[in-house]
Amino acid sequence: MEFSVTGFEVGPIAANCYILKDNNSREGIVIDPGGNPDTILASIKDQDVEVKLIALTHGHFDHIGGVKELKKSLKVPVAIHAADGDMLTDGKKNLSAFMGVAKEMDAADILLQDGDNISFGSCNLQVIATPGHTKGGVCFYGGGALFSGDTLFAGSIGRTDFPDGSLDDILDSIRNKLSKVSDATKVFPGHGPASVMGVERESNPFF
Ligand SMILES: [Zn+2]
Ligand SMILES: [Zn+2]
Repeated sequence: MEFSVTGFEVGPIAANCYILKDNNSREGIVIDPGGNPDTILASIKDQDVEVKLIALTHGHFDHIGGVKELKKSLKVPVAIHAADGDMLTDGKKNLSAFMGVAKEMDAADILLQDGDNISFGSCNLQVIATPGHTKGGVCFYGGGALFSGDTLFAGSIGRTDFPDGSLDDILDSIRNKLSKVSDATKVFPGHGPASVMGVERESNPFF
């Protein structure tokens, strides 16, 4: 891959946060800082990453819980798909209100659309809109990696029983929207272990 990937489980229900760092420069991004901002910030400092962007696969609280602290420290823009934009600012929509304490962030700086590109150093990730788990769920694809959020897990897919969920949509997303993703691509999901796209196509019962 053109960048290194450091993954952590963060927050109350063990969401995967990923720090990406370009191999040829110090530039990088953070995907889904769902909690434990101090741990994430310490790793950024350890690796001397110049973070350019906080990119979110979707707006559920377990993926956004550390956004406020990270944004304050790093002073970088936050990007989320337009259809999940109001989940950042609404504790009911991001489901945190049903877990005890409503988590609400500032509005996003960048509203993503399908086909947008995210660049850092010489690396480029394409935004693939993959609705189904939420309306604005996305995957980030590039450099031999797919960051699949709660759309695709190793051996499974994300829940579709939330208010914004749709089983038809998530099946269309993984079978059709992700058809451009090559078999050799390493899959980094929003929960659980990493996988490989070809293995998922072969053995994941939802394909
Ligand atoms: Zn989710
Ligand atoms: Zn999640």
